[in-house]
Amino acid sequence: MRGEYVKETRRFQRAARLDRLPPYLFVELETAKHELVDRGVDLVDLGLGDPDLPTFPEIVEALREAAGDPATHCYPSQRGDRSLRDAIARWFESRHGVALDPDREIHVLIGTKEGLGHLPVAVLDEDRVALVPDPGYPVYQASSWLVGGDVVHVPLEPELGFRPDLERLPRKTMEAAQLLYLNYPNNPTGAAADAEFFQLAVNLAHEHDFVVVNDAAYAEIVYEGHRASLLAAGGAADVAVEFHSFSKTFNMTGWRVGFVAGNADVIDALSAVKSNMDSCVFTAVQRAAEAALALPVDRVQEQVDVYRRRRDTLVDGLWEARWRVPRPHATFYVWAKVPTDEDSRTFARRLLTEARVVVTPGVGFGASGEGYVRMALTTPEARIAEAVERIRGVL
Ligand SMILES: *Cc1c(COP(=O)(O)O)cnc(C)c1O
Repeated sequence: MRGEYVKETRRFQRAARLDRLPPYLFVELETAKHELVDRGVDLVDLGLGDPDLPTFPEIVEALREAAGDPATHCYPSQRGDRSLRDAIARWFESRHGVALDPDREIHVLIGTKEGLGHLPVAVLDEDRVALVPDPGYPVYQASSWLVGGDVVHVPLEPELGFRPDLERLPRKTMEAAQLLYLNYPNNPTGAAADAEFFQLAVNLAHEHDFVVVNDAAYAEIVYEGHRASLLAAGGAADVAVEFHSFSKTFNMTGWRVGFVAGNADVIDALSAVKSNMDSCVFTAVQRAAEAALALPVDRVQEQVDVYRRRRDTLVDGLWEARWRVPRPHATFYVWAKVPTDEDSRTFARRLLTEARVVVTPGVGFGASGEGYVRMALTTPEARIAEAVERIRGVL
């Protein structure tokens, strides 16, 4: 009948591309953890990759002041404030000895994760290959899959200090590659890279015509000398970009600010994508980021020393319990072989229920992570000592 309203039932359909994402592996473990927390059980949580220490007070104060300035209330400029990009260029030169052009070679991001997530939209074609470290931070593969790219997992070799054996990759794979992801200092393994390794990666990128990316979110959390930038390698300016974050260095995970530096064409392409998706970071947060870069290096070093003491408490304690975990050179993670014949999820589950200690099963970072667990040093030293005691009791 005319005018009659017929209610249609439409079924919402998710885009098919979401089927490319792997299922979340830890539902059961998360549920078990929340049940214990709800019952008021005291857990020591070594699971979180999020600093427990507060943002440095100077940074908070800079935000407070900037938020009161109406000049910060409008849309920010697309690539980030000129003064922040200048500060980044000065910081990069002083930390890594690399001179960057703030106009063309630096772009402010809404956190490193945002930039990494959008990068494949800019530089990876459908059915071309992204080389992704395994184990690795899940964003590299997920964002590559979402744009229809092929992911080839490159195992991090324990015998090579958790670096990929790049020279052993098949020539065909190298020719199909448009993108190689590296992440040093490395999450989850705590490995650092040196100048020689970065130079090899840059040479291969030249030879096979792909972009090489280093996720340097942990660049400043290094214990024994191994501070290195991909961009310091000869020829890096032609083929490489490096992602930096304020999150881990300055305890600013919630603030959402980071930057990418390096090859101007890659940054141009990423900027073209981002200009259609976001409008950069609140200017007041960018001013706070500038205040972060102006902090004396000693302040960050004191914090690295806090992580170092926690690392030694955990590693020495577990050795005494006859679990021979390696001492990481960098990051706030300890990556340890499961000391029993359980798989990583079963072992993590048992540590949760029997020892009341939360660790992350290695398989969550990729197939090569099976047989390992990750323990984060984002908990006070006394609690880490407590975790050691509890783990000792169930090994
Ligand atoms: C924490 C982390 C990030 C996220 O950094 P944001 O700047 O907070 O987005 C990126 N990469 C790795 C490897 C991380 O562990």
